[in-house]
Amino acid sequence: MGYADLHIHTIHSYDATASVAAVLQYVANHTDLDVIAITDHDTISGINEAVDLAPRYGIEVIPGCEVSTADGHLLALFIHRPVPAGLSLIETVELIGAQGGICIAAHPMAFGINSLTFTTIQNALLKPGISQVLVGVEAFNGSLISSWRNPMVERISQTLPLAQTGNSDSHILETIGQGSTEFFGYTARELRCALIAADTRVRKVPNLDCFGIIDRYVPRIMLRKMGWVTDNRTPQTNLYFAREKNLIQNHQSYSPQN
Ligand SMILES: [Zn+2]
Ligand SMILES: [Zn+2]
Repeated sequence: MGYADLHIHTIHSYDATASVAAVLQYVANHTDLDVIAITDHDTISGINEAVDLAPRYGIEVIPGCEVSTADGHLLALFIHRPVPAGLSLIETVELIGAQGGICIAAHPMAFGINSLTFTTIQNALLKPGISQVLVGVEAFNGSLISSWRNPMVERISQTLPLAQTGNSDSHILETIGQGSTEFFGYTARELRCALIAADTRVRKVPNLDCFGIIDRYVPRIMLRKMGWVTDNRTPQTNLYFAREKNLIQNHQSYSPQN
């Protein structure tokens, strides 16, 4: 089985604190994630750097974006061109599909944040063609935004004909992987197939350390507002992780029949 965190912000988002290289290094050194998606708010300005650097860290990066639709936040994955903010959910899904992408409803029903409702999602799925592109729902969100709602969101998500995903929605390094998506295989391509087939599972941290997240996030975001990036790294050039060797061995032993 492979694991993916499909909702990670970098300094290309106004409210996140880690550079692209710092995110990749953290994922390689501190998590067992095989695939991540970089999903900055309404911009893809960090994805080329992330995709280019990822092989040095033994990770696969899906180019993505968290699009602020008029109806709520939407994770666009496997995109290569910007997706405009402010359009309806259906218009946005159609634009993502037109460039070969797929998407996931981010933190539905989250309190105090522009979030999709389950009714909006269900209504959109009735329109022909939408269910081929809007293929997943974030049943677990590992950030602070209404984490107390996660059990309810997960319960309702399971009634939808969509892939169940868990993601961290990280804005700081240490929360990466606090919520991830389990799938058969290890690659971004296999993950895409699993999402389309709605054959994924949520992996979540049992008890989110909310106070720890606040402790770490508040000073960093204050420094960020003053123009500092608190977690910056120079991309490394000579990495070949033991982790990467393990991934290769895993690939060799993986069989879809298992
Ligand atoms: Zn969001
Ligand atoms: Zn987010």
